[in-house]
Amino acid sequence: MLSLNLVTLLYLVASVCFIQALKGLSHPATSRAGNTFGMTGMAIAMFTTAALTIKLGSEPVTGLGWVMLGLLIGGTAGTIMARRVEMTKMPELVAFMHSMIGLAAVCIAVAAVAEPHAFGIVAAGLPIPAGNRIELFIGTFVGAITFSGSVIAFGKLSGRYKLRVFRGAPVVFAGQHMLNLLLAIAMLACGIAFAATQLWAPYVIMAALAFVLGVLIIIPIGGADMPVVVSMLNSYSGWAAAGIGFSLNNPMLIIAGSLVGSSGAILSYIMCKAMNRSFFNVILGGFGSDAASSVDANPQQQRSVKSGSPDDSAFMLANAETVVIIPGYGLAVARAQHALKELTTKLSEKGVDVKYAIHPVAGRMPGHMNVLLAEAEVPYDQVFEMDDINSEFGQVDVVLVLGANDVVNPAAKNDPKSPIAGMPILEAYKARAIIVNKRSMAAGYAGLENELFYLDKTMMVFGDAKKVLEEMVKAVE
Ligand code: NDP
Repeated sequence: MLSLNLVTLLYLVASVCFIQALKGLSHPATSRAGNTFGMTGMAIAMFTTAALTIKLGSEPVTGLGWVMLGLLIGGTAGTIMARRVEMTKMPELVAFMHSMIGLAAVCIAVAAVAEPHAFGIVAAGLPIPAGNRIELFIGTFVGAITFSGSVIAFGKLSGRYKLRVFRGAPVVFAGQHMLNLLLAIAMLACGIAFAATQLWAPYVIMAALAFVLGVLIIIPIGGADMPVVVSMLNSYSGWAAAGIGFSLNNPMLIIAGSLVGSSGAILSYIMCKAMNRSFFNVILGGFGSDAASSVDANPQQQRSVKSGSPDDSAFMLANAETVVIIPGYGLAVARAQHALKELTTKLSEKGVDVKYAIHPVAGRMPGHMNVLLAEAEVPYDQVFEMDDINSEFGQVDVVLVLGANDVVNPAAKNDPKSPIAGMPILEAYKARAIIVNKRSMAAGYAGLENELFYLDKTMMVFGDAKKVLEEMVKAVE
């Protein structure tokens, strides 16, 4: 009894660590501490489950060595992948990991249906109680949808595969929603049949239909909406884990799964708001097709822009009183955050008031720009979220847009027909002068022209962000 209380206590400590992790990760200044809490909580949870629960359970358990081997293999693979992955490839990696969580939930559920006594669900030879069958059915179909949906999201995000379903463009066909509805009804019917009878046939058909549904739900979603999808699948993977936690009577899985499920759902909502997407439209699919089809066939054809050199920009920046920097995806591609920090330090030394403005969906993952700036040790008090800085742009002398495009595109405000119409933007166009650095006149993620580049007060500085910034630093000196 005392020992089982120890397990409960350790699970409680791990749960508190997970809650602290989420709290810490909500701000760049506390995100390191948040990560440490998360890792500590996971280590406690794994140790308690693998070593203590198995040792202290009422029945002798064999195979602890296999569990440890699995932990070793999984831990090593995870470490290698995390060390190698580039920041811009994180959404892909996250999609891959969600697919593994979904698959794990399905595998555990299948094993529990096959040998429920081994999981302590029921004594050997007795049928699984109806309540547990329902939990296993829910865990299986949510896990299966998460697995196949995440595989499609991974393919679409990586852009490396030729198969049509892995391309960024939405795959749509007539009667798609009706087919999805019919499959969902058939899947639920099989699930209910399994819950009533515990027969393998309805269970297997239910799982197969869920795998197909996962594919069909994600293929009509365009590349532009994939980040929301990844976050939504993150939420699903949490609910799948929580569902299995109920079946296994494991409070740790229930708590951790619910935290992942609810935080993923909240993040999806925040991203939808920042991209001006309706959450339900994204889930129902096909919404990203607008953005994908809006790519201009003759991008910026024959239109002229004012261009300048890094030296010209450095002169303007050094002579300004207030400067706001808007970083975007291109800054991450160029890995130019350290050069940027050097430039802003020099400008501050010259008495220029420098601030950074962050759009919630700048870059390719939530918090991407905050992570980059934190890496370069930019002071947090210089970094402002969109809602806090937008009212200031009218009084700013120079805005420096670095590898950002969609997040400063005035079409979102001025063109009701634009695919990004209604998306809140950083109002750089209000500043007295604008410097935009990018390599060419190519479009950003949404594939749209950007009128900001053609304004009289805008100067384009073409080139890789790192190289341009390094030249600016020299010129400011
Ligand atoms: P964009 O993708 O709109 O634009 C990035 C710009 O950076 C491009 O126009 C590109 O132009 C330029 N660029 C690329 N490489 C370099 C380089 N080495 N040096 C200088 N410039 C470079 O980025 P934003 O950050 O403005 O907007 C993010 C977009 O991504 C939004 O549409 C958002 O909805 C979407 N999104 C956001 C996610 C998130 O969670 N944050 C996830 C996925 C998508 P050029 O090629 O000419 O250099």
